[in-house]
Amino acid sequence: MSTGKINVAVENIFPLIKKFLYSDHEIFLRELISNATDATTKIKHLSSLGEIKGDLGDLQIEVKVDKKGKKLHIIDRGIGMTHEEVQKYINEVAFSGAEEFLDQYKDSAKDSGIIGHFGLGFYSAFMVAEKVEIITKTHKDEPAAHWICDGSPEYSLKKSKKDIRGTEIILHIDKDSKEFLEDTRIGELLKKYNKFMPIPIKFGTKEETLPLPDGAEKDAEPEKITVDNIINNPDPAWTKKPADLKDENYKSFYRELYPMQFEEPLFNIHLNVDYPFNLTGILYFPKLNNDINIQKDRIQLYQNQVFVTDNVEGIVPEFLTLLRGVIDSPDIPLNVSRSYLQADGAVKKISNYITRKVADKLKSLFKNDRKGFEEKWNDIKVVIEYGMLSEDKFYEKADSFALYPTTDGEFFTFDELKENTKDLQTDKDDKLVILYSSDIDAQHSYIKQANAKGYKVLLLDSPIIGHLIQKIEGNKENISFARVDGDTLENLIKKDEAIISKISDKEKETLKPIIEEVVKEGGYTVQLEPLDSQSLPFVLTQPEFMRRMKEMQQTGGGGMMGNMPDMYNLVVNTNHELVGQILNTKTKKKKERLIQQALDLAKLSQNLLKGEALTQFIQRSVELIK
Ligand code: ADP
Repeated sequence: MSTGKINVAVENIFPLIKKFLYSDHEIFLRELISNATDATTKIKHLSSLGEIKGDLGDLQIEVKVDKKGKKLHIIDRGIGMTHEEVQKYINEVAFSGAEEFLDQYKDSAKDSGIIGHFGLGFYSAFMVAEKVEIITKTHKDEPAAHWICDGSPEYSLKKSKKDIRGTEIILHIDKDSKEFLEDTRIGELLKKYNKFMPIPIKFGTKEETLPLPDGAEKDAEPEKITVDNIINNPDPAWTKKPADLKDENYKSFYRELYPMQFEEPLFNIHLNVDYPFNLTGILYFPKLNNDINIQKDRIQLYQNQVFVTDNVEGIVPEFLTLLRGVIDSPDIPLNVSRSYLQADGAVKKISNYITRKVADKLKSLFKNDRKGFEEKWNDIKVVIEYGMLSEDKFYEKADSFALYPTTDGEFFTFDELKENTKDLQTDKDDKLVILYSSDIDAQHSYIKQANAKGYKVLLLDSPIIGHLIQKIEGNKENISFARVDGDTLENLIKKDEAIISKISDKEKETLKPIIEEVVKEGGYTVQLEPLDSQSLPFVLTQPEFMRRMKEMQQTGGGGMMGNMPDMYNLVVNTNHELVGQILNTKTKKKKERLIQQALDLAKLSQNLLKGEALTQFIQRSVELIK
């Protein structure tokens, strides 16, 4: 037996570990199982090289809770350690590793949001244990070693009788950490961190019912047997070659990842690269709705099949955090803060790679199955539009497959849209004007009116569309978007139709102040325009510019526009019969009543007529038809 004292510089390590990593004590189990996995992988490797002869035995790792003895055991059949190796790897390497880690950690702790806590390794055991034992038998022909350390720098190292190759770590759980003596807690941790680790992990046993043998009596009792409870799937889909996987395999892996998710994913992207960085994974496009925030953060990040975090912010571009799935890369530095992560060159490359793969996949879906792509558009558009808005590289790619649906169910790419509208929808400066609606129901009468003129009206109803429109207008020449209920439609109509007003200029001059007087409370800008006869007598429009300013402000633009009331133009259709009638009506009172009625109809068509005004309108209407 030998005893010794570990390097004095680390005297303070234990209080530090406990203090700094308080909220993350649970990661000790992940670290110890990672070590057991590494040791097992190594023995398999040596065996495959022929350096170890004979059968390796059952290589599974076992986790055991001994609640009475207040102990937790982690047992592997890996490579084991000799006495010298324990000296070197545990007393020297592990300690200095822990020390180094703490040095780094102290600095980055100031910076908020540290991901994962890799690197602490074996010594994280002391976050939950007052004493740790290692009993280990090397694969070499040497006696087993038994190391004991109570957390102070003193340790003892002696021989042990263990004769089965491998390592057993025994944690004497600290009184502050009793939770780790509960089966349910350990089970939960194993599920969280080790669900896809490459070596089978046994945690207790379970009962399995055998199927009845052929020809058995109908009421025969099926036989029950006790089997090892293996908590992980050592060969998750992302570690396989895409060529070896069918659609059904991807779907069943999705169910494994998200057991509570009943909806199937729309499609998936298999990531697989080993130069200039190593990364594998599968991303899924789920059906998405317009509410961006509640759908984020479902992608899980692994390193060599060990779970690290489900917050991949900084590793994938923000718009892709709406997707689901796994990313596994040993090349993502995890002991660092997020702001560092975002500036890291390797991480940038990874992020660009993922963005490119997603764009390529979308493009191939679009090219190979346009109809299917159109059918999915509503469920995926929020990712694509968000990506176009936030990542210029993605915008460039997406420009060829992003779709612009019309209110009557056609789908155009931007170029197709231009081709289909260029003859008709230009304004007086020869700019192409793209009309769109943000809400079919609310803007129904305007859409009808535009369609009657042969204009296409897009349906753009995502929450960020205002910002995206702004960006598209900046990127494309001679194009502007205009909401269908805005003040643009009448300009278009005027230009290409050159409708002649049925009312003379002189008559207009008389009519305008009369109308202004009646509607003055609403603060409208009254315009007299010769619209087509199918339009309402009065139409309310909102200046495109004003509405945009307000929208930007609501979605986080800031500024002075917040308290501005809504402003409307009141467009009087001088070609409508009723307007002629207003002009010719003799009594002032009747004139006013007609004007009020026409205004209310305009408001009604835009869902702006409410409360007392609505009641009055109904009463007046009843009077009129009596
Ligand atoms: P790391 O795993 O990052 O190298 P650790 O502190 O976790 O650091 O472990 C230090 C070393 O101790 C390992 O590199 C390995 O050589 C050895 N070791 C730890 N656990 C085991 C084990 N279960 N079986 C064999 N060797 C082990």
